[in-house]
Amino acid sequence: MNREISLSAQDITQAEIDAVVAVMRSERLSLGPRIPEFEAEFTKRLRVKHAIACSSGTAGLHMCWRALGVGRGDEVITTPFSFIASSNSIMFEGAKPVFVDIDPQTWQLDTARAAAAITPRTKALLPVDVFGCTPDMDAIWTIARRHHLRVLEDSCEALGATYQGRPCGTIGEAGVFGFYPNKQMTTGEGGMVVTNDDDLAFLIRSFRNQGRDPEGGWLAHPRLGFNYRMNDMQAAIGTVQMRRLDEILAKRDRVARLYLERLKDEPRLSTQRVLPQTHISWFVFVVRLSDHYAQSDRDRILGQLRAKGIGCNVYFPAIHLQPFYHTDLGYNPGDFPITEALSQRTMALPFHNHLTESDVDYVVTTLRALL
Ligand SMILES: *Cc1c(COP(=O)(O)O)cnc(C)c1O
Repeated sequence: MNREISLSAQDITQAEIDAVVAVMRSERLSLGPRIPEFEAEFTKRLRVKHAIACSSGTAGLHMCWRALGVGRGDEVITTPFSFIASSNSIMFEGAKPVFVDIDPQTWQLDTARAAAAITPRTKALLPVDVFGCTPDMDAIWTIARRHHLRVLEDSCEALGATYQGRPCGTIGEAGVFGFYPNKQMTTGEGGMVVTNDDDLAFLIRSFRNQGRDPEGGWLAHPRLGFNYRMNDMQAAIGTVQMRRLDEILAKRDRVARLYLERLKDEPRLSTQRVLPQTHISWFVFVVRLSDHYAQSDRDRILGQLRAKGIGCNVYFPAIHLQPFYHTDLGYNPGDFPITEALSQRTMALPFHNHLTESDVDYVVTTLRALL
């Protein structure tokens, strides 16, 4: 008998629903009291000075580049194995994403290659906490200090993760989270920038709100800004989700352990290596087929899993192989062989808070049979 097991699912309780209804009955649907309340959950939990809620993780990254002064003519070194928004955000300001290949075990930016890719135009590094883990952030900072580079941390997949005990998102000069429904916590759409830098925080608050200053008038715009605001309904959901974060992370940890136990002796599949100094926050459960399998085998297996009611997907397609990265930036197949070999063989399996042990058994048994 077939089941239906979705790839991802949000975890919304009556408390989130009540919080939204309360906002809708209030006088402020936007620029109201729920925004600072939600931001305070982040400054408290992440032990960081500033948290700035915004309309998405992508918007947060974009504002950070502008606040960091990264733009036309500048290069930013980052990973091609990520969600496309990380490097797109660099292009929004006219800067160039310079990709370097990844570490084959951790699936993260290879910091030795990053050091080798520095040119006189390099202005910043964008380490991405891929799948709730981190690259070697000590190495990132060593490179950044030596070459006077800015460091922005894309932590959109890593809320709750830590590096040497410090919360991810706070290792870079600024860090960004995203709250699309497949992330650890959701606000439907939304994002958060965190930083200890007062000047960056001031600028990002202004950029989010049409370039206004906090004490200025509604129609005073000292600088070019955006409407990247979060609304109060979203912030109300976010506050409840943040207060539930430990519960949410524990549920995800449990499901990941169920998978890992069942797959530990499976030579045809491997999972991401987590650096010993990193505590992972589970975002997705991605397995890699061994080199013995081709991309076509992976795609066939994904089709067969879906036919059996198991939600799954490729994760991630290499960013440099998207059409406009070829036409606009000149990247080509073969440029980053480790990334390409990985992204041709990865599969995201169903992963969310509501999966039962028997769901995981069904996924693993079905997958094994297909291998
Ligand atoms: C989700 C994600 C983003 C973008 O977040 P949105 O809120 O969807 O805009 C950026 N970078 C990475 C690595 C992500 O996974």
